[in-house]
Amino acid sequence: MDFNWDPELIALRAEVEEFARDAAAGSDVREDSWAVGYSREVSEELGRRGWLGMTWPVEVGGGGRPPLHRFVVAEALISNGAPIAASWFADRQIGPVLLAFGDDDQRRAFLPDMLAGRSSWCVGMSEPDAGSDLAAVRTRAVRDGDTFVVDGRKIWTSFAATADWCYLICRTDPDAPAHRGMSELIVDMRSPGIDVRPIRDMTGTSHFCEVTFDAVRVPASRLVGALNGSFRQVMRQLEHERGGIDRLASNVALLRDSVLDADTADPIVRQEIASLESSYRVGRLLVLREVLGQTPASFSAATKTFCTELEQRVARFAASVAGAEATLWNRIARGVCYSPAYTIMGGTTQVLRNIIGERVLGLPR
Ligand SMILES: Cc1cc2nc3c(=O)[nH]c(=O)nc-3n(C[C@H](O)[C@H](O)[C@H](O)COP(=O)(O)OP(=O)(O)OC[C@H]3O[C@@H](n4cnc5c(N)ncnc54)[C@H](O)[C@@H]3O)c2cc1C
Repeated sequence: MDFNWDPELIALRAEVEEFARDAAAGSDVREDSWAVGYSREVSEELGRRGWLGMTWPVEVGGGGRPPLHRFVVAEALISNGAPIAASWFADRQIGPVLLAFGDDDQRRAFLPDMLAGRSSWCVGMSEPDAGSDLAAVRTRAVRDGDTFVVDGRKIWTSFAATADWCYLICRTDPDAPAHRGMSELIVDMRSPGIDVRPIRDMTGTSHFCEVTFDAVRVPASRLVGALNGSFRQVMRQLEHERGGIDRLASNVALLRDSVLDADTADPIVRQEIASLESSYRVGRLLVLREVLGQTPASFSAATKTFCTELEQRVARFAASVAGAEATLWNRIARGVCYSPAYTIMGGTTQVLRNIIGERVLGLPR
């Protein structure tokens, strides 16, 4: 077994790293989370360079490249702070969902703009009373002729204020058991009846939002996959959301920069550096197994848990190295304030541990 990258991948990584460093240099504050840096221009450039939809089939305009190529590109972009959020949801999960469950018309309508980095998507899953328990979704869509009429409220919807499209999970059969009455709709965010209210997080940014839908009309042709079949589809989507390098590499630059300032004469500090660095490598191997499709079903819950808990340790380490300076409003403080989000978004650590116990280890409920 050869663990070295082949020369093509090494060259690709070097090219992406250079691009990412330039793209990150454009922002005022170094962001240590891919989820915050948003630039339509950067996304369009990713599209021009063929770094979106890299693994999608050539027949739909995708790159048809092996998963490792996408891994290399994503790790280099994220670990160098490139602002990729405008195209990330489409590239990571909505495109793959349309490939798996969409029809030909939907693929023709939506994939080209995703591949070009021209369209920005948000994901409307969570509601005020339905976060971990997605089956409790209450936003409803009622069929009326050739449209669905959507009413309800979503929360924590990242980039809803700037997105062109929302991938919405909604209830279409209120009488069916909770898991069996939900469907997925593509909603044009410019539709009348949509109101978006940005929510400020602890770092002061407002990337996620509360979104209300008041009699919003959605063409019935924008139903993705099976009517009332969302639960199975959304589980597949969450696999894309949980096992990727974005759950590990968000603040690795903060780790590397903090190590430069750390008191390495102190054996406790040295031990922590060794532990963080080796954990990063273990996390990377877990992600690689996901990317190569070599994990058991539902294992992405374990990968995300391990990786995001490490991201939180990195933030704490950076603060301990900075000492009193971490109380100033700087990159380190922002990193600390952002870090609780890592183990909440995409499924909380507690819920993922339940999944590991029940679905991976087969323990009793
Ligand atoms: C930065 C960020 C971005 C996000 N972006 C999006 C987005 O774009 N779209 C979207 O739809 N959502 C988004 N979310 C929402 C996210 O998916 C939810 O916050 C998450 O799923 C948890 O749901 P909740 O907040 O309702 O918490 P709850 O489900 O109410 O959970 C509250 C607490 O109870 C615990 N808990 C709940 N159920 C169990 C259980 N069965 N066993 C043990 N413990 C349990 C949880 O671990 C948590 O600690 C985002 C969240 C964050 C932080």
